[in-house]
Amino acid sequence: MPLMDSKIPPIREHRHPETALAHGGPMCSQKKGKSICPILAQADRSFTQGSICPLLPGLGIMLSLPDTLVLLHGAVGCGSCAHGNNVNIRVGNSVRGRPSGDALWLSSALDEINVINGGDEKLARALVEADKLYHPKVIIVVSGCLPGVIGDDIDAVSAKVQDEVSAKILSVHCEGFKSRFMATAYDVVYHALGRGLMPEPSEVKTKDQKRINVMNVGSMGLGDEKELGRLIGEIGLEANFFPVFAHPESLRKAASASLSVSICPTHDDYFLSHLEEKYSIPYIIRHMPIGIKNTSRWLEGVGEAMGLASEAKKVARAEEKELGEALKGYKEFFKGKRAFLSAGEYRSLATASLLKELGFQIVAIRSFHYDGFADVEIEKLTKDSSEEIVFNVANVQPFEEANLLKRLKPDIFLGHWHGNSTAARLGIPTQVIYNSGYGYMGYQGAFDLARRIERRLKHPFFYKRLETEGRLSYRKSWYAKDPFSKIRSYEAL
Ligand code: SF4
Repeated sequence: MPLMDSKIPPIREHRHPETALAHGGPMCSQKKGKSICPILAQADRSFTQGSICPLLPGLGIMLSLPDTLVLLHGAVGCGSCAHGNNVNIRVGNSVRGRPSGDALWLSSALDEINVINGGDEKLARALVEADKLYHPKVIIVVSGCLPGVIGDDIDAVSAKVQDEVSAKILSVHCEGFKSRFMATAYDVVYHALGRGLMPEPSEVKTKDQKRINVMNVGSMGLGDEKELGRLIGEIGLEANFFPVFAHPESLRKAASASLSVSICPTHDDYFLSHLEEKYSIPYIIRHMPIGIKNTSRWLEGVGEAMGLASEAKKVARAEEKELGEALKGYKEFFKGKRAFLSAGEYRSLATASLLKELGFQIVAIRSFHYDGFADVEIEKLTKDSSEEIVFNVANVQPFEEANLLKRLKPDIFLGHWHGNSTAARLGIPTQVIYNSGYGYMGYQGAFDLARRIERRLKHPFFYKRLETEGRLSYRKSWYAKDPFSKIRSYEAL
């Protein structure tokens, strides 16, 4: 039975048993059958400073959807990360010429009485009221941990009140306790969109020979979409971007595309398989278009799949030549400087490849999780290279990061905008690894990032001042210990 036919999708650790959350050591080849230092899925920490609830990335997609209201069914604090997401939603809407309003989300605010008596009735009332007050086209009911534990049936409630509301109701099962891997969020959101907003195959009359689906991610902005759309346009094709900030119509259009291409394999694999299975749309799931070679590989892959190989090659060579000229001065300046990166798996690895191309030595990469999709990127970084890169798989865990940074003393740290403070307080210049207001992807993105890093490195005074004022709270004895001393196999825990 296709996975989409079931009410609830499987969690990531069931679909990808190799997925891991705890690892530390030198980065080695993970090429199939040749794994020198395998990454243990059955490992964890004896001490942890936190984790990431799948709601965080899930809401990043859901809140961006126009004409859509997100109804969080759970305790009142569940999904409070939506406040932090709001700036992205406002800016994302504004740059797309839409009224720049706040993200539209409500909570059913389950309390102790609901835990005992059940929250189904409260949810039904909230759905009717939300529809009357806001008139959205779509309402997404998101189940947090509480309804999952007490057994509320959000699908049954949604089906029961569907006739009373004009919005289409979708349900997303995003109970944080079910999966330790935030990538599960992508699957549950795609599952709901695929089941609720896509047409039946019989409704798709003809394929559009020029249209390709480009599956965007919450960490890219309009600038990145424009750059990738420009490159796709240069070879005579048209890009249909979804799901982030995409109108439900883009999902209908997706069903008649001739090819789907992923930007981040970890993000997209579930839905790419669905599009192939249900609408016979072939797909490409390799390479993130961050970095010069990566962008060329990505574009040439699209060209080959669409019978436009020579056109894609021609565009890629011309772009590489122009960019090569523009980057000459930057490469000279970056030569031999040491970089440390931290982010989602694919993003951190692909950005490391770009920094290597710019002349940096990569000293360490921290990835929120590891799955088999990373192997191809790890191979690119380790192949033909004798430089040792420390690879740390960590769902945040800043104590490990602080220890590593003290030892490795990089010249620059690239991490999330909310994850750069440890490095900054150690006096290390930082650069956000993504910011939806800036460009990072394609050839233009490579140039823009080089320019921003150069500026950081030439003006380190802010960080030097922070180092003296913003001491971290770890004891000296922690810095003397092995940064990975808290990582154990399940048996040893
Ligand atoms: S889904 Fe669960 S883990 Fe996530 S915020 Fe809600 S209560 Fe917390």
